[in-house]
Amino acid sequence: MDECIFCRIAAGSIPSRKIYEDDLCFCFHDIQPQAPTHALLIPKRHISSLQDLTPDDQALVGHMMGLMPSIAQTLGVDREGYRIAVNVGTHGRQSVRHLHLHILGGRQLGETMG
Ligand code: AMP
Repeated sequence: MDECIFCRIAAGSIPSRKIYEDDLCFCFHDIQPQAPTHALLIPKRHISSLQDLTPDDQALVGHMMGLMPSIAQTLGVDREGYRIAVNVGTHGRQSVRHLHLHILGGRQLGETMG
């Protein structure tokens, strides 16, 4: 997926402000933050959206969610809390078609989700 911007970020061919990396995933600061803390966690393997996950991806998804406490600590939002959001498809306003988890925090977030 040479043309996928998040594949290129994970490969290091497009620069990003890296927060965390391992064999399976990559975490970096969002370029247009919507909160004082706004990071993205992506799988290194190209998966277009949450809707494209298969049962074979269960371990990967578990791994990504399991990283949240330590990533939140690194970002300094572990004590006050944060929000994880995943936009899916057109109605979900997913603009980058590579699965990513938004990690938002650093202030009291809005009450509404929709
Ligand atoms: P979504 O609308 O859920 O697809 O979110 C895509 C996110 O990717 C947006 O918050 C963008 O600001 C962010 N984004 C796009 N390009 C980059 C980039 N080169 N580096 C960091 N974040 C990016």
